[in-house]
Amino acid sequence: MKKISKTNYRLRSIASGAVFDDEGWTLEAPDELRPGLIRALYEKKQIDFKDPSLGIYRFADWLPVNNFLEGSSAPVTYKSEGLAGQLGLTNLYITFSGYWPEKDAFMNTCSFKETEAFSVCGRLNHCNSKVLVVASAGNTSRSFARVCSDHKIPLLICVPEDNTDALWFDAPIDENYVKLIVSRTGSDYFDAIYLSNIACRHPDFIPEGGAKNIARRDGMGTTVLSAVEHIGRIPEYYFQAIGSGTGAIAAWEASLRLLEDGRFGTHKMKLMVSQNHPFTPIMDSWLAGSRDILPMNDEEARGKVEKIMAKVLSNRKPPYALAGGLYDALKDAGGEVLAATNREAEEAGRLFEEIEGIDLHPAASVATATLIRAVKDQKVDKDSLIMLNITGGGEKKFMSDKALYYLKPSEIFDMNPTVAEVHARLDRLF
Ligand SMILES: *Cc1c(COP(=O)(O)O)cnc(C)c1O
Repeated sequence: MKKISKTNYRLRSIASGAVFDDEGWTLEAPDELRPGLIRALYEKKQIDFKDPSLGIYRFADWLPVNNFLEGSSAPVTYKSEGLAGQLGLTNLYITFSGYWPEKDAFMNTCSFKETEAFSVCGRLNHCNSKVLVVASAGNTSRSFARVCSDHKIPLLICVPEDNTDALWFDAPIDENYVKLIVSRTGSDYFDAIYLSNIACRHPDFIPEGGAKNIARRDGMGTTVLSAVEHIGRIPEYYFQAIGSGTGAIAAWEASLRLLEDGRFGTHKMKLMVSQNHPFTPIMDSWLAGSRDILPMNDEEARGKVEKIMAKVLSNRKPPYALAGGLYDALKDAGGEVLAATNREAEEAGRLFEEIEGIDLHPAASVATATLIRAVKDQKVDKDSLIMLNITGGGEKKFMSDKALYYLKPSEIFDMNPTVAEVHARLDRLF
């Protein structure tokens, strides 16, 4: 099921510039005061695109992996005719992550979170005996559950009980390896994160790490590698809907590697990232020129999250301020933070399905809506080289093609359980 194939790389702290080795699961630079990301420095500065049969691992020169797992699917890029014609664009490229058999896109969890799951699980090595812990409200948990189940990798996922309907699959999940714990009905994503933080203090568990995990970011960056392989050039504009912005940081990092590669142009790729109005903390902070996310009143934030249709875009603590984070990415690359209303997104999603031929995840509809608006507002030219990152799609098609299975919780926790209680109940699980 897995093939040993190790990519050579070292790590660099963005805050201090220090270069050091990966100890196996390094998520942070040692002994640093300023919070910041670490980045992989790959030995190969020019990427070889490997055989398509390897799925996402065809980009392994720039993935921090020790193993290739079977069953992955790379993002697919094609030149748009339908949407491009409608908008009068001559160089619009669509990079699609999801389920779209006609285009050879077979991500069975229907979003680009699958790229991170295959990359992160490919990075696991001697840490394999520990249980990987992931907290998420939907697509991330679904992707990790599928990949870990298929490859017998122990996984604990922490989700609010009210979100468990997001954990649908086309085949049963192997519950010997994948366990779901939930925070009881009425709790939210932060209660699930609280559970995952306690779990990670147990010696048998390791955190997946979120944006801090180089494998997560470089997995997501394969969307840009797919685009550049197809186009032959770095795009001028990159459109993506963001919640945490990890995907946009990843896209920026991929574009920097491609600049260094030297074969794909000398221009920066402008980041045109988008949120779902009215939940726009990143846009508000960016427009205010603030390096920190502007403080948000708890109740107000919850109210706004309730209103948006693309719930995956509701992250309240994005990796924005830290060194090498989203603020630095936007400053360096240039670009804008945009927003679309539910209505604009719905219309864009409908149009896309009609003229490109596949249903979109609501987040991808948000990105499409902001592209449509940017063309109207003449923020891009007709001939600009544009990449539209369709981060999720084909769910409707996938669900109509298959019978669905749901993952059931092994343990349900009330508000604020103690460390001892959580650890005792986890000990019984694995
Ligand atoms: C998670 C997610 C996003 C947002 O990704 P970031 O981590 O904020 O870059 C966008 N679209 C879909 C479908 C997602 O699942």
